[in-house]
Amino acid sequence: MSKRLTAQNGAPIADDQNSLSLGARGPVALQDWHLIEKLAHFNRERIPERVVHAKGSGAYGIFTLTRDMSEFTLADHFNGVGKQTEVMVRFSTVGGESGSADAERDPRGFAVRFYTENGNHDIVGNNTPVFFLRDGIKFPDFIHTQKRNPVTNLKDPEAMWDFWSLNPEALHQVTILMSDRGIPASYRHMNGYGSHTFSLWNDQGERFWVKFHFKTRQGIRNLSNTQADKLKGIDPDHAQRDLYGAIADGDFPSWTLYMQVMPELDAEQYPINPFDLTKVWPHKDYPLIEVGILELSRNPQNYFNEVEQAAFAPSNLVPGVGASPDKMLQARLFAYADAQRYRVGANYNQLPVNCPHASQVNHYQRAGAMAGTGCPYQGDASESGVSYGPNTQGGPEQQPQFAEPPMKISGDLDRYDRFAEENFVQAGDLYRLMSDAQRQALADTIAATLSQASGPVQQRMLAQFSQADEEYGHRVARAIEAVNA
Ligand code: NDP
Repeated sequence: MSKRLTAQNGAPIADDQNSLSLGARGPVALQDWHLIEKLAHFNRERIPERVVHAKGSGAYGIFTLTRDMSEFTLADHFNGVGKQTEVMVRFSTVGGESGSADAERDPRGFAVRFYTENGNHDIVGNNTPVFFLRDGIKFPDFIHTQKRNPVTNLKDPEAMWDFWSLNPEALHQVTILMSDRGIPASYRHMNGYGSHTFSLWNDQGERFWVKFHFKTRQGIRNLSNTQADKLKGIDPDHAQRDLYGAIADGDFPSWTLYMQVMPELDAEQYPINPFDLTKVWPHKDYPLIEVGILELSRNPQNYFNEVEQAAFAPSNLVPGVGASPDKMLQARLFAYADAQRYRVGANYNQLPVNCPHASQVNHYQRAGAMAGTGCPYQGDASESGVSYGPNTQGGPEQQPQFAEPPMKISGDLDRYDRFAEENFVQAGDLYRLMSDAQRQALADTIAATLSQASGPVQQRMLAQFSQADEEYGHRVARAIEAVNA
């Protein structure tokens, strides 16, 4: 039997092809409620696109734990070798609009959601272990330099390099972005990093600082500038096509999860500020511990429902995993959930892709747009007729056994000068890791846009490159001369 066409109220539709009109050539009647519903709903098909990470691709899969991490965390997805947890991952570019090309030179978002027994744990990271900034107060300014100029509506190399030249903490990430890893060949061929320092705590109440690394098992593959420029014209959606196609063909992409773990008190002695998002923890100081395998094996059935409305937030933490004093993380803990409330609505966690798979979801938040949408796993306190806590009516009760151990914080409440931190050593370390050909490609890529910026901006940037490594500065200067020749 064929499926019957209905309106949203379920009423069968007799004619979906012809408007109701007064005579064959006459005007359309306002009483054609089916026409009105179609047009009105069509006008509302878009939700606000993400200001950053607007263009993305997503898929579901499984995380399998290969090393028990119970000595560090009580989080259920990190306990018990062989433990499997469902995941959803969204990859993205950052600066472009939702229709922009996948082959842009841009960091890639790498957002992982673990649907754990104790709720959703989101690691909302990038394909880079660091970021351009160490303080969230600078984030809106930075993003404005990556977006279109307010007058010309064009991308703006002067704004981009002007900002970076005045914010030397960006140099490490700028070096990664302009390097041969700056344009991944696909989402499958890149690493992902939680980037921030998070905390883990175990059932003894001990805290550890942690960094998450997802290393691709497909191998790192990148595009040259020429390959990317061509691809942007031929197939601006190449990364979406690649991910969807691979999974549809049964060629499931996977990543190995590693953690770097630092005992809580080490942070006070460690010469590098472990909460500075512009820095990595060198592997020789904190070796990578192999923890598990993340494999993506299922495409979404509906892109809008499951990828566009996927609402990741670093504040989605679960018992055993917590925040750290990282200032950028602190800003994102607020900003992401707030963006989802604005973009999708206050009850975004009731949509199936966002809905926790935890055995129980009970809280005293109630009502709001789309309340009761019908998350298959979710209860809420109002269902039992009580909407406040504590109560004597059998409502949900707090669970003190999951309390996070106290975090020792000391110092004066103040605005601390971000220039007090060191900015150049790790950018130089990365440069010194590169082969001669990689260094030249880096310098040429920088020169292609830096040469379009004004003289003072170029001079400030050259001084930064030289501070990271003298040879880095000379090489970029020569590359700019070559562009101008
Ligand atoms: P190691 O020699 O132990 O590790 C070097 C790391 O650099 C590897 O993880 C490698 O990734 C990665 N790498 C190589 N080329 C690039 C590139 N163009 N862009 C980004 N990453 C790259 O060094 P250290 O731990 O002492 O760190 C030295 C420098 O390596 C850092 O300053 C940082 O720039 C970079 N790095 C460090 C990471 C860390 O967590 N310690 C993580 C990623 C980068 P792979 O193994 O996949 O080839």
